[in-house]
Amino acid sequence: MKIINTISEMQAYSTAQRKADKTIGLVPTMGFLHEGHLSLVDKARQHADIVIVTIFVNPTQFGPNEDLDRYPRDFEGDCHQCETRNVDAIFAPTVDEMYPEKQTCWVNEDELSLNLCGKSRPGHFRGVTSVVTKLFNACLPDIAVFGQKDAQQAAILKKMVLDLNFPIKVIVAPIVRESDGLALSSRNKYLSDDEHQRSLSINLSLEEAEKAIANGERNPNTIHDLITKMIAASGGNIDYVEIVDNKTLSSVSELTGEILIAVAVFYGKTRLIDNSVIQVG
Ligand code: AMP
Repeated sequence: MKIINTISEMQAYSTAQRKADKTIGLVPTMGFLHEGHLSLVDKARQHADIVIVTIFVNPTQFGPNEDLDRYPRDFEGDCHQCETRNVDAIFAPTVDEMYPEKQTCWVNEDELSLNLCGKSRPGHFRGVTSVVTKLFNACLPDIAVFGQKDAQQAAILKKMVLDLNFPIKVIVAPIVRESDGLALSSRNKYLSDDEHQRSLSINLSLEEAEKAIANGERNPNTIHDLITKMIAASGGNIDYVEIVDNKTLSSVSELTGEILIAVAVFYGKTRLIDNSVIQVG
């Protein structure tokens, strides 16, 4: 497995692979890898000859009061995990390599980024779309795999690829959960045992919502209340519970078609997100 730190070396590696008629699958991450990330690696492997994992904690997608400085890192552990999944190359640039001078060109998505996490994390998605563009230009992939765990991010990146004509196929892979139902996340490391236990109410509330809809509930407010009450009872501090159209990400007044129920909740200082896509009717 190759470990590459510079953009020029990364481009040379990918160019050589493409000249050899190999297709390249890309898995962008911020490291501290877990089975959720590795499921994306497996998915990329199914669709491409060469798999590149990027590990870069991108400062431009963190707000001033967010967890950039304490974001968990374990580069050696990440390399080991990638080796066990036959990753071909890790691209792990420094911040200076990615942002050698003040960046004044940015990629902005204007609609899907406005609500959900976009409301509580202003500037976050501009950081994401811009860094993913830079990673695309460094790694030159044919396909890129993102997780449904970050549903809004996946929707925005798909739209970016479509609108800006990137010659890249985006694949979105399902959410991987711990056996107790908590969606895997690098940030789960921040949770105390007690917070972890209480945070299980996120997935439980999504499951209850799914059941209620399967039993005929069609009022989004009722579903919103159900989720809110369950999470509040666990002591979670709700950032948002949103019930939106899965394509437009705008709120729905009636449960019909493909809907996305997305939540963001704080347990202590740790902000967790989770979601469920439900086909109604
Ligand atoms: P991150 O390192 O948190 O930026 O995540 C990198 C990629 O892994 C993103 O596309 C995430 O959506 C995806 N990912 C993170 N957690 C999970 C999970 N539990 N299941 C599936 N994909 C995930």
